[in-house]
Amino acid sequence: MTVIQRSEWPLKELSPSYDPWDPLLSLRKFGRNTLTSVEMTVTNLCNMRCEHCAVGDSLVMREPDMIPLPLMLKRLDEVEHLQTISITGGEPTFRKKTVDEVIVPLLKYARERGIRSQINSNLTLDIGRYEKLLPYLDVMHISFNYTSVDDFHEVGFANSGHPVPREVAVKMYDKMIENSQILSKAGMFISAETMINYRTHHKLPEIHRLIKEMGCRRHEVHPMYAADFAANLPVVSLAEFRTAIHDLLDHRDQDMWMLFGTLPFFACNSEVEDRQLIQRLRREPNVTVRNDPDGRNRVNVNMFTGDVFVTDFAAIPAFGNVSHSQLDDVFSEWSNNHPLNQTVNCHCDIASCCGPNLLVADMYYKDTDFKSRQAIL
Ligand code: SF4
Repeated sequence: MTVIQRSEWPLKELSPSYDPWDPLLSLRKFGRNTLTSVEMTVTNLCNMRCEHCAVGDSLVMREPDMIPLPLMLKRLDEVEHLQTISITGGEPTFRKKTVDEVIVPLLKYARERGIRSQINSNLTLDIGRYEKLLPYLDVMHISFNYTSVDDFHEVGFANSGHPVPREVAVKMYDKMIENSQILSKAGMFISAETMINYRTHHKLPEIHRLIKEMGCRRHEVHPMYAADFAANLPVVSLAEFRTAIHDLLDHRDQDMWMLFGTLPFFACNSEVEDRQLIQRLRREPNVTVRNDPDGRNRVNVNMFTGDVFVTDFAAIPAFGNVSHSQLDDVFSEWSNNHPLNQTVNCHCDIASCCGPNLLVADMYYKDTDFKSRQAIL
């Protein structure tokens, strides 16, 4: 097997002090929420059916034709302040044709424009399709929520509708780990995300240890969203969340970048324990807390319909389409006029916070008016 070496790297290194996906950067720079990030859903096919899948209801067995790539590239070109793109699915690499005819051209476009790219993958397929991305890709984002192959078997096929033999799961699990180790050695920046949910909240240090062994450069931790397949899973209490994060911080490898995202804790919360946790996260070396990009600096484009969403979760309906609108215009309409956005678009610069994720607010803060609150110092 050949491993392609990464080409020379002229762009600023992604690091705990430089995360262009964080909407706070553009909010500070332009004084208002600004579209700097576009996520594209390039497939609804996937070889897994995870228990927690946030787009599970969109997964299909066959899919229609895509919108023309030149139209998508034109819409990206028109985004004046574009800084990052993300490619998501399904499993984006499920079809080799998608890799060659859509993903690689999008990544090349990003590299030529000097913007950063991420792809969300389960990394369980043959390595050849991931190697093709190596020369152009900034972040390979994977999910890792397991302490053993049996966890993977149980979680990864929970919604298959038929039993998946353990041997199949073992092969895929081993492939994911091997791919991660080989691609990391070849220079790929792999960021493994663990979601805090009813299964993982007691096991985060062990999951973290395995992620380190896989060669990943960053460990991301997010709460599980109660959306799509996950809608009916048990909800972890805020107290359990806090305990899980402290436990992870107590046991993590301090040399590894840890990125926490869409956390359900805010500097305006009256609970002292919440604010103590936020302060600890700020103090810890190599730890960052990313504000939620959805609807603040990012939109999602479904590349089969051209529909534009604030998130790839289907719960919030589309509010535009690339066939007849520019993305900056669609984003402005959402940002300035959409009633949902008006409920969460607060900003306390002193706390480096620009408000809650819509789904987190809905899950944990149903009756809270964030617009009337501010960070407590
Ligand atoms: S920006 Fe919003 S959520 Fe964040 S601390 Fe301020 S009021 Fe709270």
